Amino acid sequence: MTTPIPPVSLDPENWEDFRASAHAMLEAALDRLEGAGQGRVWTPLPEDQKTAFQAPLPRTGHGNDAVQDQITALLPHGVGNTHPRFFGWVHGAGTPSNMIAEIAAAAMNANLGGRDHGAIYVERQVVDWCREMFGFPETASGLVVSGTSIATVIALKAARDRALGFATRTAGLNGARLVGYTSDQTHSCVARAFDILGLGSDALRKIPTDAEFRIDLAALRAAIARDQAAGLTPFALIGTAGAVNVGSIDDLDTMADIARDTGMWFHVDGAFGATAMLSTTRRPLLRGLERADSLAFDFHKWMQVNYDAGFVLIRSEEDHRSAFSERPDYLVATSRGLSAANPWPTEYGPELSRGFRALKIWAQIAEHGTEKLGRVVDQNCAQAAYLGDKARASTATELMAPVALNICCFRALRAGLTEAQLDSLNTEIVLRLQESGIAAPSTTKLYGKTAIRVNITNHRTRMEDIDILFEAVARLADEVARDLAV
Ligand SMILES: *Cc1c(COP(=O)(O)O)cnc(C)c1O
Repeated sequence: MTTPIPPVSLDPENWEDFRASAHAMLEAALDRLEGAGQGRVWTPLPEDQKTAFQAPLPRTGHGNDAVQDQITALLPHGVGNTHPRFFGWVHGAGTPSNMIAEIAAAAMNANLGGRDHGAIYVERQVVDWCREMFGFPETASGLVVSGTSIATVIALKAARDRALGFATRTAGLNGARLVGYTSDQTHSCVARAFDILGLGSDALRKIPTDAEFRIDLAALRAAIARDQAAGLTPFALIGTAGAVNVGSIDDLDTMADIARDTGMWFHVDGAFGATAMLSTTRRPLLRGLERADSLAFDFHKWMQVNYDAGFVLIRSEEDHRSAFSERPDYLVATSRGLSAANPWPTEYGPELSRGFRALKIWAQIAEHGTEKLGRVVDQNCAQAAYLGDKARASTATELMAPVALNICCFRALRAGLTEAQLDSLNTEIVLRLQESGIAAPSTTKLYGKTAIRVNITNHRTRMEDIDILFEAVARLADEVARDLAV
């Protein structure tokens, strides 16, 4: 006789207790979001909590209560992007409703690699909506991904494979000398994609930009001609709709012409800037975007979907699927049963198992509608312009670049300081802003000078927040200038 093995389950032993603890966590999370505008922007994780996350691997679990306590204590220690005065890099602020969509998605625990189940139809709806949002044809395809970085890899893989007749999927590059073009303001993910795709980041030509930080079209044409004369194969042109440094937007329409005339794939990085398509006032800036062969953008930035959520949209479904589709015996398509609902998302990207990001994206658009999301864009652009006006009007500050969209780069000035001291002054101001919890801008370099970079992709930001930031910069500039003089 064998002794019976007691059953193991990871479900709660007592659902009543579990419900109570789950409700408590929901309340703590709601408190966090209802009070998003209060308190410090960035609150670093206290040392004792850092230590608590250096524990040995637990052989025996600590139980639900202990885990919930540790999670609750973690809640205030984000980067600060839920706060109205988070202005660093490009972060979206998220929404409370999205948190609820995430709970529902977790309850379904769906795998969106493929198969015939409810979640697949939600993602298809998102793909349809993206086509419509960006004026792409019915024949376009798309995939929800984690962010613009991977979306760029997927788009440029399709571009690379189309250029080489898709034989490259089995034969490799075979000595092909593909080159691509983008501006010197482009995000580093583009060069990284060239690296990942085996093209080498040197094969990406960084073309200089004009006074408004847009790609210099004459320099672009000259670079293409030079490469053609040298026997290289120009295959991809990458435009930016909203560059990281200053938010500039390339002349996408002319770039689409150049790509067409030279047989190149035209890709647009619209990580945050593509969202301006939802704004009636800013949409004209994106003219030509609808002609792209592919577009990479994020929902988690200006569309305020909770992290993470990005998208790749590709004009030719056939090119897209030809670059990724692979259906081994254990994943074969059927017209009935669970293996129906073809084609599957896994045929459009490198991943097989995929979570249900589409639900929070769908919920955000369905709840708020594109007009309201577009008004957030308008509001942030107006705030950036307002800050730009303040920086231009004051003799104690200098506007460092035209405000193209939602980013304002400026710096504090103090008489008698060298350029190197001004760099130190502005770097220190930003550090003190972050450390004091007042606001969280970042820094960047423009013309070799350190600028305070204020990016506003935040539906919670109000004009008063801009005033608080500007006043704090003035006060800290005095304080830091005094310290530097010592
Ligand atoms: C944020 C950003 C990226 C990278 O997107 P991830 O979602 O972080 O991968 C690429 N390009 C631009 C212009 C960006 O702002």
